[in-house]
Amino acid sequence: MSLAIPDTDFHVPDGETPVQCPHCGRPFRTERLRALHVGDAHDGWTDDEREAYESAMEAEREDLFVYHLKVVASLVAVYAFFFFTYLAVSMAQA
Ligand SMILES: [Zn+2]
Repeated sequence: MSLAIPDTDFHVPDGETPVQCPHCGRPFRTERLRALHVGDAHDGWTDDEREAYESAMEAEREDLFVYHLKVVASLVAVYAFFFFTYLAVSMAQA
């Protein structure tokens, strides 16, 4: 599968050296993003590309897990804040 997307549709910030997809030439900010793109958008991977894709997917799963932990911790903190605020206000009125 080939994706014909003009380079003008992508922007890599100044000062960064983009890495390009070997199949369609699309620029990416990191090797990890390129590996995910190659795995999702192209067929006929090499062994190195498959290994890079699996490594990038594992890193994405770990990042997503950490993100979920942060969301749960934030929700617990908000819940605790409101619970103790309610407790303090109700104790002050008693
Ligand atoms: Zn590509």
